[in-house]
Amino acid sequence: MRILVTGGAGFIGSAVCRLLARNPDNRVVNVDKLTYAGNLASLREIDNLPNYRFVKADICDDAAVLDILKAEEIEAVMHLAAESHVDRSIDGPGAFVETNVIGTFRMLNAALAYWKGLSSASQERFRFHHISTDEVFGDLPFDSGIFTEETPYAPSSPYSASKAASDHFARAWHETYGLPVVLSNCSNNYGPYHFPEKLIPLVILNALDERPLPVYGNGANVRDWLYVEDHARALELVATTGVVGESYNIGGHAERTNLEVVQSICDILDQKRPRKRGASYRDLITFVTDRPGHDRRYAIDSSKIERELGWRRQESFDTGLARTIDWYLDNEWWWGPIRSDRYAGERLGVAKTG
Ligand code: NAD
Repeated sequence: MRILVTGGAGFIGSAVCRLLARNPDNRVVNVDKLTYAGNLASLREIDNLPNYRFVKADICDDAAVLDILKAEEIEAVMHLAAESHVDRSIDGPGAFVETNVIGTFRMLNAALAYWKGLSSASQERFRFHHISTDEVFGDLPFDSGIFTEETPYAPSSPYSASKAASDHFARAWHETYGLPVVLSNCSNNYGPYHFPEKLIPLVILNALDERPLPVYGNGANVRDWLYVEDHARALELVATTGVVGESYNIGGHAERTNLEVVQSICDILDQKRPRKRGASYRDLITFVTDRPGHDRRYAIDSSKIERELGWRRQESFDTGLARTIDWYLDNEWWWGPIRSDRYAGERLGVAKTG
């Protein structure tokens, strides 16, 4: 299949490109603007493959996107490019509206213009897969509730509001213009090549540097966690076998409080990289002022994608976290150059991933 991946230099997009390009029957075209979050080093293992190509472009440039769709005779678009960091969306929401809302609108327009020019057999085959987050569903109480595909949208942060808007646009382009759209909403991802401003890599790297491990509020906020390569496999399934017009929730069956996540990282590091004089990394945990509008809990029901598309996660939270920590211990060549003091500050310490 000939697939255009947007945001393929980011955390999840690079996992998707690595997965797809390993199959020689695929041709993968990665379109990315290379913002601060984009890193071509994440694609080192595939960038020499003949079936992979990188194009530096902005998704807001619909003419450029249309040219690529035509030149590469694309059969499916997997749209991941976005501004993804909640804390940044609080400090500067404009970029989130620009990329996540207007950028998605432009992507949809380019895809629609391209799709209209295809033969009816190619139109039938074509898919526009819009990739989104469970944060669009908003805040759950600590003790009850779970997001299904029918849960009404109630976003709390500028990030989740921008993603909710883009989901609605994607659905509208299917309902109004007939573009074959599929959607997916996923819980928090973690794993290799995760930018060091996000909770799990930040805590691992701060711990190795003997810096404070900041936790928002009392650390009781709950998130569901999924290993990024399990998400990439789910996304491939949705893009290739999902039913047009449907959306699929994707999650890890792994609800953890932020404090539990940080404590688990400390406990694994205590084993793998013991501190001096028998101290525990848990001693570095520091509680900081909570984020405004911080949703209490997200929990996602992924039974539809399991039942209908046959997806199963392969990593539990414990095995995935151990693999992730091993990866950060072994790959300073990747994170060393992008790690800087500004990502070790208190405010960025317990960020929710996008
Ligand atoms: P990321 O921030 O790591 O990567 C985003 C990528 O998009 C970067 O490579 C960046 O350069 C690129 N980009 C940004 N603006 C662009 C533009 N205007 N044109 C072209 N490229 C642009 O994000 P991520 O964590 O990999 O998330 C990818 C997608 O998955 C996002 O849509 C996000 O909402 C969604 N998602 C993320 C998570 C998560 O836990 N990280 C969970 C569910 C859904």
